[in-house]
Amino acid sequence: MNISNVIVSDEIDKKGIEILDRNGLKVTYKPDIEKEELLKIIKDYDILIVRSRTKVLRDVIDASNLKIIARVGVGLDNIDVKYAKEKGISVINAEEAAMSSVAELVIGLMIGLARGITKADTSMKNGKWIKKELVGYELKGKYLGIIGVGKIGKRVGRIAKALGMNLIGYDVVQIDKEFVRETNMITADLDTLLKNADYITLHVPLTEQTRHMLNKDKLMLMKKSAYIINTSRGGVIDEDALYHVLKDGMIAGAALDVFEEEPPRNIELVRLSNVICTPHIGAQTKEAQELASTIVAEKIIQKLRE
Ligand code: NAD
Repeated sequence: MNISNVIVSDEIDKKGIEILDRNGLKVTYKPDIEKEELLKIIKDYDILIVRSRTKVLRDVIDASNLKIIARVGVGLDNIDVKYAKEKGISVINAEEAAMSSVAELVIGLMIGLARGITKADTSMKNGKWIKKELVGYELKGKYLGIIGVGKIGKRVGRIAKALGMNLIGYDVVQIDKEFVRETNMITADLDTLLKNADYITLHVPLTEQTRHMLNKDKLMLMKKSAYIINTSRGGVIDEDALYHVLKDGMIAGAALDVFEEEPPRNIELVRLSNVICTPHIGAQTKEAQELASTIVAEKIIQKLRE
């Protein structure tokens, strides 16, 4: 492929840009570009590199002469992959880069829920000493339900196992047998997992099949004492239903890194006292960003050599 003009329309780690520069590509870095401007200039570029902010839908694709769209991250739900492929555009991502970062955040959020860490911190900053109210739980011996046992789900499972948790897994494909043997994971259908787990963590992509896979009926299957952690995509849980089950005490609590709309429209959900929120920081570590940017740049160079 004889192409060279690259536009980067979201903030990415510089390592990837250095690799592209070294390989003779001309890179325009516009991490704050507005959609109107992107639509005007996109025709001049062969390669578009994005993270989550830029939505690469039909309008952008139709205005372009792109050969490659690259996402410095895992999920591709901000790109119309089907349409891009119909137009002969290659779509590249960095599947492996965020595994440890997201998994470690999940464990942090789970401990945060179990021990009321955010509540403890807020109360102390307000000059209170509410020790008696802060009787928490150990994770050891509890059942962790993992929905989507892929790269991140497995990493979470391995760390949770080391903390003495028992694992229950659900996936649409057969779960890696070696992993099941290694961790003694109980494999189950979705309803069985929801009814039995003390903590439930979601690691599925957002697709037509997974959108609102946890609706009110499914959430109502959970134990009243159970917690849910979502670091996958906001759309996999029906947020309005989640708000009601949390508010009515039908489940114990939730930790959310992702939202149906970001920043979240559903501010009542964020404000509930049994909810911990983070602003989509699953992959927001120095290591994950550097790795994602490097992987994507190397995949682009590889593609150009084909
Ligand atoms: P992966 O492809 O390795 O694993 C996803 C798993 O989900 C697969 O095993 C797949 O079979 C399973 N799955 C798909 N549809 C399903 C369904 N309907 N029911 C049950 N299981 C289903 O992906 P991964 O690297 O583990 O990442 C998982 C998701 O995490 C990504 O798609 C992305 O949306 C999200 N993510 C979030 C952040 C963040 O910043 N919070 C960062 C990276 C990734």
